[in-house]
Formats: sequence, C-alpha cells, structure tokens
Amino acid sequence: MTQFDKSDDSVVVVIGSGAGGATVAHELCEKGIKVVVLEAGPRFTIDDFHNNELAAYQQLTWADKRYATGDWPAATLAPEGPNWIVKAVGGSTIHWNGLSFRAQPHEFKARTVYGDVDGASLADWPITYDDLDPYYSRAEDKMGVTGTHGIERHPPNNNYKVLYNGAKRIGYKQISNARQAINSEFRDGRGACIQMGFCNQGCKMGAKWSTLYSEIPKAEETGNLDLRSGCMVLRIEHDKAGKANGVVYVDADGVEHRQSARVVCVAGNSIETPRLLLNSNSSMFPDGLANSSGEVGRNYTRHVGAIVFGEFDKPVNMHRGITVPGTVFDEARSDPSRGFAGGYLIEAVSLGLTNLAVVGDASGWGKDYTSFLEKYSHLAGVLLNGEDMPRSQNGVTLHDTERDQYGLPIPVIHVEEHDNDHAMSKHFKGQAEALLGAVGATKMHHVVTAAATHNMGTCRMSADADKGVVDGFGRTHDVSNLFVSDGSQFTTATAENPTLTIVALAIRQAEHIAAEMSAKNL
Ligand SMILES: Cc1cc2nc3c(=O)[nH]c(=O)nc-3n(C[C@H](O)[C@H](O)[C@H](O)COP(=O)(O)OP(=O)(O)OC[C@H]3O[C@@H](n4cnc5c(N)ncnc54)[C@H](O)[C@@H]3O)c2cc1C
Ligand code: SF4
Repeated sequence: MTQFDKSDDSVVVVIGSGAGGATVAHELCEKGIKVVVLEAGPRFTIDDFHNNELAAYQQLTWADKRYATGDWPAATLAPEGPNWIVKAVGGSTIHWNGLSFRAQPHEFKARTVYGDVDGASLADWPITYDDLDPYYSRAEDKMGVTGTHGIERHPPNNNYKVLYNGAKRIGYKQISNARQAINSEFRDGRGACIQMGFCNQGCKMGAKWSTLYSEIPKAEETGNLDLRSGCMVLRIEHDKAGKANGVVYVDADGVEHRQSARVVCVAGNSIETPRLLLNSNSSMFPDGLANSSGEVGRNYTRHVGAIVFGEFDKPVNMHRGITVPGTVFDEARSDPSRGFAGGYLIEAVSLGLTNLAVVGDASGWGKDYTSFLEKYSHLAGVLLNGEDMPRSQNGVTLHDTERDQYGLPIPVIHVEEHDNDHAMSKHFKGQAEALLGAVGATKMHHVVTAAATHNMGTCRMSADADKGVVDGFGRTHDVSNLFVSDGSQFTTATAENPTLTIVALAIRQAEHIAAEMSAKNL
C-alpha cells in the first residue's frame, strides 16, 4: 500500500473520496502525480452492504449534527439531517441512483437566458457547454452510462412502463430508459445489474458506478495514491504568501496530524466544502479561506423536488428493477410561458417501504397513511427534479456555539424557497397527476421530499473574483493552489441530476492541474 510522508510537500491532497474527489485523484494518479486522499468515513467493501434500508442508512449516511433553517421542508421534517450524504470511501456514489445527464447548453447561461428573476442570484457560468462537451463524453465512458458509447439500455420495468405509457398519452415525446451509470452488461470490471432494486443501499453487484470500487482501486493500482480513510480534515493551512501548504486532520483514533501539500483539492460535498473553508480562517483570511468575495457558503441549490404516487387496481411492484428507471425530458426546456424560469425532469421512481413510510408520515398519521402503505405493491411513483433558483441568502454558515465531535462549529443550512420553485412544483404536480391518471391511476398520493440529495452551489464559479469563489477550472480566485472539485462549484443548479457534470468538471480540472504543475505554475 502506497504511503507518502506527511512532510512530503510535493503531493496533491484531495479532501473527500466521492464523485468529485476520487475522480480528480484517479485522473492525477494516472498522470504520474502523487496524491493523498483524506476521507472522513470508513472504507467498506461490497460485502459489507446491508440489504435493509434502515441498516444501510445507518451504516453509510453522514449523521454528524447539522441544522436546517428557513422555509424548506427539511427545516421542519429533518431539521438535524437536511442533507442525505454518505460518510465513507466512495462518498454519496454508494447511495446514489446512477442517473447521469448532461446539462443543457442554455443552462450554462442561466442569467442571460432567464433574465433578471427578482430575488434570485442567477449568473452565467464562466464556461460553456462546448468547453465541457469532450469531458462529458469521457465521464460517460468512465462511468459506463447506458445509451452512450454503445452501452445497452436496461429492460423496462413496470414502473417505467407506467411512466412511458402515461407520458405518451398526455403528449410527451422525449421519454427514455437510458442514461444510467449502471452496467446493463459486464463492463470495466463491474458486474451487470440483476434488477433487484433498492439501489440506495449500495449495489451488491457493483453494477452501479461508485468511486469506491472503480476510481479508488484504479488509482491505487498506479502506485500514486495514498488513501487515508477515517481521517476528517479540520482545516487547510497556508504560508505567508497566502498559498495553501498543508491540511490538519484527525484520524480514526482521534490523533491529530498535518499533511503537507503542493496543491489542495476540496471535495467534501456542498455542505462540508464551504464549512471547511469557513473553518480555515486566519489573520490573512479572517472571513474564511478563499472568501474575499463573501460568496463561500452562498447560493446553495438542491433541485426542486416532489413525488406523486399513483395507486392502481393491479399490482405494479415498483420496487422490482432499478430505482429510477426512466425519464421524461419534455419539461426540461426553458419556456417562461409555463409561469416559471428553468425546466424540470420527470423521473420514474420507487421508494422502499421503509422510506415510503418515512416520507408518507409527513402528511400525518391516520387512515389515509396506513391505506397508502397497504397499497405499496399497487403504487407507481414519479419524481420532480427541477432547477431551483439560487439565492444569496440560501446556504451554509457556522453555528455560533454548537460544536461537533471534532470540536468544529456545526453547519447551519438555510433555505428560503423562491416563488419560481413553487410555480414549477405546482406545474409538475398537475402534469404528474395527468400522466398517472392517463394510465388508470385511481388515487394520487403527494409526498414531500425533505432531505436534499443533490447539493450544489456554495462555492460558485464566476468569471469575476468578486462574484464567486472559483474560476472555470474550479481554482479559487484567492488561493492559487486551492481547488474546489465537487458540486459546490455549480454557478446554477441546471435541471439535470448533477453527478455526471461533477465528474466531467473533475476530469477537466485534473487535466488543468497536471498542465499547470508541469509548467511550474503550481
Ligand atoms: C439517495 C441519493 C440518490 C442520488 N441519486 C443521484 C442520481 O441518480 N444522479 C445524480 O446525478 N446524483 C445523485 N445523487 C447525488 C450524488 O450522489 C452526488 O451529486 C455526488 O455524489 C456528489 O459528489 P461529491 O464529490 O460532491 O460528494 P460526495 O460524493 O458526497 O463525497 C464527499 C465525500 O467527502 C467526505 N468529506 C466531507 N468532508 C470531509 C472532511 N472535512 N474531511 C474528509 N472527508 C470529508 C465525505 O465523507 C464524502 O465521502 C444522489 C444522492 C443520494 C444521497
Ligand atoms: S437494481 Fe441493479 S444497480 Fe440497483 S442495486 Fe440491484 S444490481 Fe445494483
């Protein structure tokens, strides 16, 4: 096992081993660059995964204390667990569902296309779709996305058939069961999906892409990766010139260490990344590292979400097969005539009975709730995944007094939903009811999704140093050898599930870092 000396200041230190962190680490290792990955959570194997939703949640989910404030559902329904993120090697790519879409070209120009939406902090990305296009292709190949690179789609399950037929009947045309980073056949050392469902528990076949069993072992094979699990980074340090020169972390035994660094990449997901920068304040950076703009922690987005379940006379058994088996794209366009800016995807979705019981309970205990659960086998679900408006006041701050087990101020995640989000949600609910009704649903059940699974923004990309935290390569405007390598970089949310874009950005960023290192600019 490769181990680099803690005083070795030629290494790139990557914080977090999820979609962004492990991808940037793997790409750098393949280029012969020495990398230390520090990951707060433990390292599991596929054999460790539980076939039990509750046990899987308890095993994998980041449960350190957080608070949610504002008017979003998490503030009342999950005030101490508003963000569903994994704390383990592989990060949230263990829990995720594998849906992998490119953002649309116009979404990189959200401010220009949507105009001045009152109360929103819309901005254009400093990069275009064309900048990312080749990296999207590499990401799709790396992750094995169905419907790309000659990779077969999955067979339609019943939940998808409901979505497909209902969508057709109400006039939708762009309906697809492709674009999952889930192997439909053996590929790249990973098994094929056996359609057993419950993908959030961790995939026992290794069919669903996860950095745990793809990027991490590949990077280790190069001999250039030193992965340290159970190591929580407390702060990033800098020299007198303001360049990052090391990180301080605590290991699983509670012992504090310092790792020197030539370059630091932060990829702790969009809550922990800004929190770490804010916690790394110093006399030179009194408001937090890389925060001269005051934008660290701001503009948090998480997608507008809702689920409508249709109840049918005949069994659907939505849980059989992959959890999110297909998507309707017709509403993803920008079309202000619908009464809102931005677009949304309609995704077929299944929840396990445990999760259904949790989200259903939000509507209140009683006969409706129990009969809803009784009808589990007769339900089909459709999910809203829509572009939410960034707002300057939405984001991550540090709690004034409360500390976590590491002695760090806990994060407070504040969200005030924009009226645009409500208008989009209302439109979706009407379309979802029409879609499910068109194929014979006898009853509709609306449930609220509380915990955010898509966390974005908080260290947004900007062309101007005073309007954001990082540039188009994820390099912080203030600290030349400090990069943000996860979804925190997103300038705006886009309507698409974010991980393919995170991975594409990470591949592009690694290429940039390697070029800058060899040019001695880093
Ligand atoms: C249930 C669920 C379903 C999802 N489905 C989809 C989907 O279908 N499609 C899609 O595109 N996205 C999906 N997502 C979202 C997707 O998982 C995330 O977008 C993606 O994993 C984010 O990548 P990341 O690198 O930012 O963070 P993560 O993958 O969450 O990795 C962050 C890592 O950093 C570590 N870390 C944090 N702070 C520190 C610190 N201070 N020191 C050391 N380590 C630290 C964490 O332990 C974690 O391992 C889903 C998420 C969930 C929870
Ligand atoms: S349905 Fe497929 S992707 Fe999901 S957990 Fe099972 S084998 Fe893995």
